[in-house]
Amino acid sequence: MAMVSEIYGSMVFNEHTMQERLPSATYKSLLKTIKEGQPLEIEVANVVAHAMKEWAIEKGATHFTHWFQPLTGITSEKHDSFLDPTDDGRAIMSFSGKELIQGEPDASSFPSGGLRATFEARGYTAWDPTSYAFIKDEVLCIPTAFCSYTGEALDKKTPLLRSMHAVEEQANRVLALFGWERQHIVPTLGAEQEYFLISEKDYAKRQDLVMCGRTLFGYAPCKGQELEEHYFGAIRPTVNEFMKELDDELWALGVSARTKHNEVAPAQHELAPIFTNVNRAIDENLLTMEKMRLLASHHGLVCLQHEKPFDGINGSGKHNNWSLSAGKKNLFDPGESPMDNLRFLVFLTGVIQAVDDYQELLRMSVASAGNDHRLGAHEAPPAIVSIFLGDELDAIVDALIDGHEYASAEKVAMDLGVAVLPNFLIDNTDRNRTSPFAFTGNKFEFRMPGSAVNLSDCNMILNTAMAKSLKDFADAMEGKAGEEFEAAAIDYIRETLKRHQRIIFNGNGYADEWQEEAARRGLANHRTTADALPCLVAPESIELFETFGVLTETEVRSRYEVKLEKYNKLMNIEARTMKRMVRRAYLPAINSYAAEVARNITAIRAASPTASVDQQEELLRRLTEGVREIDAHLRALGKRHHETLEISDEQKKADTYAHEIVPIMDKLRAAVDGLEVLVDRDHWPVPTYNDLLFYV
Ligand code: ADP
Ligand code: MG
Repeated sequence: MAMVSEIYGSMVFNEHTMQERLPSATYKSLLKTIKEGQPLEIEVANVVAHAMKEWAIEKGATHFTHWFQPLTGITSEKHDSFLDPTDDGRAIMSFSGKELIQGEPDASSFPSGGLRATFEARGYTAWDPTSYAFIKDEVLCIPTAFCSYTGEALDKKTPLLRSMHAVEEQANRVLALFGWERQHIVPTLGAEQEYFLISEKDYAKRQDLVMCGRTLFGYAPCKGQELEEHYFGAIRPTVNEFMKELDDELWALGVSARTKHNEVAPAQHELAPIFTNVNRAIDENLLTMEKMRLLASHHGLVCLQHEKPFDGINGSGKHNNWSLSAGKKNLFDPGESPMDNLRFLVFLTGVIQAVDDYQELLRMSVASAGNDHRLGAHEAPPAIVSIFLGDELDAIVDALIDGHEYASAEKVAMDLGVAVLPNFLIDNTDRNRTSPFAFTGNKFEFRMPGSAVNLSDCNMILNTAMAKSLKDFADAMEGKAGEEFEAAAIDYIRETLKRHQRIIFNGNGYADEWQEEAARRGLANHRTTADALPCLVAPESIELFETFGVLTETEVRSRYEVKLEKYNKLMNIEARTMKRMVRRAYLPAINSYAAEVARNITAIRAASPTASVDQQEELLRRLTEGVREIDAHLRALGKRHHETLEISDEQKKADTYAHEIVPIMDKLRAAVDGLEVLVDRDHWPVPTYNDLLFYV
C-alpha cells in the first residue's frame, strides 16, 4: 500500500507539479495569472499545455476534457482524445495551448434561460487556471468557465469568479484604511457533505427513488433516529469499505477529505473536507459528490444526495463554512490589538448588513424542490434567514448599539464611547445548531444549503453582498485617518448594527414562536421555491449584481428562468411518478390483498358458520375505504396536474405546483401510507422504510 502522502494530489496538476514540470519563466507567469489574475499569453499556454499533456500521458490519460458547470449545477464533460493522426498512417499525441485555453462543446442542450437560441448552439469554455487540472478515469479534466459567444455566462463558475474579484477589491479598500498593503484576498469554503447509503437492490425496486431521488411514499419505520444510536456510531463494514475507497480516490484528486462519520439519521453519513479557496472548494465538492455516486456501486450501494429522501427522517444538508482570508490571515479572527479588533468589527458588521439586506437572495440561492421538504422540518433551519453570533459577540453588539460599557468574560471593561477597543475573547463554542447562519469562531456556517445544491450561487451572493457592505464602509470613510477614522468607524458600526439588529437571533430557530417573532421583525419567510425565486429578479438584486459586475440584468433573468423551469420539471416528474406508482403498484397490490381477505372471510364462514370474522371484516372495510380515498386523491391530482401543464407562465406554473399540487400529493401519500401498515408484507409492492434504512 502506498502511503497517503504519496497518493495525495498524485492526479492533480498542482503548483508542486507545475514547478517540477514547467520552465521557470513559464511557471512564474502562470503563477501571476493564478494569483494576480493577469492575462495568459498564448505562448505560455502552449508550454503549459505540452507539460500537462506529457504529465497526463505518463499517468495513463488518453483523453482531455473541459470540465464545466452548466446551469443544471452538475458538472459536464465531453472527452477528446489527444490522438492526432499523421500522414503516414501513424498517430502522435498532441494538445495545444489553444485547446487548453478554449473549447467549443456542442452544448445546445444545456439550459440557458433563453440566452442562447438553440439554433446557434455555440457556447465556449475557457480555462480557469485558478482551479487545478486533474486526471479522472484516464481523462485530463481542465476546469473551465462556460460562456456564450456574446460573452454571457452560461455557468455557475463565471459569476462566482467575478464575485471573488468584487469582494477582493472592496476588502482591499477597507484594509487600506487600516494601513494594510494590497492583499490577495480570497473567500474560503469548507463544504460538509451529508448523504445516505442504501442497498442497490432495494433502490432498484423503488421507482420514486430511481426517478426522483426520494421516496414519494413510505410509512415511518418502527424506529427512527430517537435512540441516536447511529450518530457517530461505529461505521459498518460495507460502509467502511466504501468510505476507504472514496478517501483514496479523493486524496489522489487532491481533495482533502478529512472527517467521515455517521450522521443522526439511520443510513446517513457525512464527509467534511479541509477548507480551501471557494472556487476550488466547489470544484472539489462536485468531484466528491460524483465519486460518491460512482463508487457506491462497487459496494452494492446507492448514494442518495437528495435533500430529503425519507419523510420524517432528517434530510441531508451541505453546511457552507465561509470566511475571508488574506494570505495566512483570517479576516474573521478577532485580532491581537485594539485596531485589529476594530477591523474585525468592521468585517463582522459587513456580514450582518449583507445577510440582512440580501436575506431573500440567500434563501433563494438554496431553493429547490428537494430543499423545500427539508427547510423548516424541525431538523434543519427554517426558511427564515437569521444570524447567530454567540453570547460574547452578542453582548459586544448590544453594548455598541446602546453605547454602554462592555465587560468581557475576562472582565476587561471596554469603553465603546472612545476610539479604543481592548482585546476581547470570542466564545467560539457554537451551541446553537438551529441557526441558519452561525458565527463559529472565525467563520460563518450557512446551514440552509441542501446536500444536492451547487454552492456557487450562495457563495456568489455572499461575496457580492459582502462587497457591497465593504464598499459602503470604504465610501463613507475615504479621506479619514487616525483618530478621526477610528471614531467615525465606530459610529458607522453602531449605526449599521442598529439598522440590522433584527437579523440577529440567538434563540431556537426550530421553534414555532420564532416564525411569529420573525414576522414581527419583518424578516422574509419564503417556504417554497416558487415563493423564493422571484427575489432574484427584484430591482435591488439586479442592481447589486450589476454594480459589482457579477451578473448583467440579462444574465440574472436567464438564471431565474432556468431555476423556474427546473423546479417545474422536477415537480412534473414527481407528480407523474406518483400517479404511476399508485396505479400500477399500490392499487393493484391493495386490491389483491383485499380480495384475499374477502376470500378468507367467505372460506371461514363456510367452514365454521359461527366463527367470528369481525376482525377480517373490519380490515376489509378499511382496505376498501382506503382504496376509495386513494382513488379520489389520484383523480384530483390527475386533473390539477393536467391543468397545470397547460399554464404557459412559468412562475404561475411554479406557484400552482407549490400551493395546489403539493397539498394533493401529500394527501395521496398519506392515504397510501395509511394502508402500508394494514397490508400483508408479502403483498406490499416496494421495500419499506424498515427495509431501506436498517439493512446496509
Ligand atoms: P461542524 O461542527 O459543523 O461539523 P467541523 O469543524 O467538522 O464543523 O467542520 C467545519 C468545516 O469548516 C470544515 O470543513 C473546515 O475545513 C471548515 N473551516 C474551518 N475553518 C474555515 C475557514 N477559515 N474558512 C472556511 N471554512 C473553514
Ligand atoms: Mg457543520
